[in-house]
Amino acid sequence: MFETSHIHLKKEALKNNLSFIRGLIGDDCQMTSVVKGNAYGHGIEEYVIMAEECGVTHFSVYSTDEAQRVFNVKRPNTAIMIMGSVDDGGLAWAIDNEIEFWVFDEERLNKALRLAEDLGKKAKLHIEIETGMYRTGFENGEIKTVIQTLQRSLEHHTLLGICTHFAGAESIANYYRIKEQIRRFKRALKQFEKADLKPIYRHACCSAALLRFPEMRMDMVRVGILQYGFWPSTETFIDYTQKHKTMDEPLHRIISWKSHVMSIKSVKTGEYIGYGTSYLAQRDTKIGIVPVGYGHGFARSLSNQGRALINGIRVAVIGTVNMNSLAVDLSEVETVKKGDSVTLIGKDGDLDVSVASFSEATNQLNYELLTRLPMHIPRIVE
Ligand SMILES: *Cc1c(COP(=O)(O)O)cnc(C)c1O
Repeated sequence: MFETSHIHLKKEALKNNLSFIRGLIGDDCQMTSVVKGNAYGHGIEEYVIMAEECGVTHFSVYSTDEAQRVFNVKRPNTAIMIMGSVDDGGLAWAIDNEIEFWVFDEERLNKALRLAEDLGKKAKLHIEIETGMYRTGFENGEIKTVIQTLQRSLEHHTLLGICTHFAGAESIANYYRIKEQIRRFKRALKQFEKADLKPIYRHACCSAALLRFPEMRMDMVRVGILQYGFWPSTETFIDYTQKHKTMDEPLHRIISWKSHVMSIKSVKTGEYIGYGTSYLAQRDTKIGIVPVGYGHGFARSLSNQGRALINGIRVAVIGTVNMNSLAVDLSEVETVKKGDSVTLIGKDGDLDVSVASFSEATNQLNYELLTRLPMHIPRIVE
């Protein structure tokens, strides 16, 4: 392969994380693996195939285009759920291919039921309830109409789910807001129950919520960040270690990102390195050029800030990150030659560049940094 860097995915790590999650939620709760955002940067196709091999049978995405990517590689009995955007063409495709999707307004509900009738298939619906996040979902005042519509069209749909999403379960500061969301969700569930509309899955929890509100795991949890081996926030990790009286890290990261030293040169004291004057060599410095830049997802804000690992030694990014390359200080790396491996995220020997430390330097969340890793970098499962 001729690409300048590669993303490696460790299957053993995924197995570990899935069994950790299974240990928390028990055998009777369904887990849907959230693979929106190109599987949080891991690569949808590679990730879905690997996760199926580890026993995952249900995937969730945000939009139809992502659903199609899962659909193209998945096994016949694996389910897909679209949680967000579906346009009209996408709706017909979804119904025809038995893709589950969220419904959060009457227009989509009515369209879906009409299309299902035309196609002679049952639409697999998840009814989303607005409980206080104010993104999408049926308001309390609309639920009655939704129930009537569903009752009138039983032959054109299967009620797969009733669901909601919490506004920031990863932060303890949101505790009361979420308690109120839980109350509203339970009230809506009762209304459906009274009307004898029983969903297969009642679901509300993302990673943070399944950790912090165990009673809300219900029939299904929607797990994104945790399965990839990251905590939703430092708070959730500390909360977990205190409840379980352990400081052991139960999660393993799946992803690592590697490139290589493309060229090496020596710079004399007093010379500026790279564009402009952001880095002045204060001693004779050996530098290495790595063919990865902001065009590959290595944030420009990591100029003079980022870290990488070469031959088991931590090196600093010096000068500005360019579009296609960056420079590292090799002064401390005694034996280094062109072609040596450079770890941008992941482990080398005893050292580790975590996405978190990488992103703390730029104030980005793990979520954002992972998702920004470009689609075109090859993913290698090992
Ligand atoms: C992204 C998302 C999730 C998963 O969130 P994590 O914090 O990554 O577990 C769950 N539910 C919905 C609706 C989402 O959009």
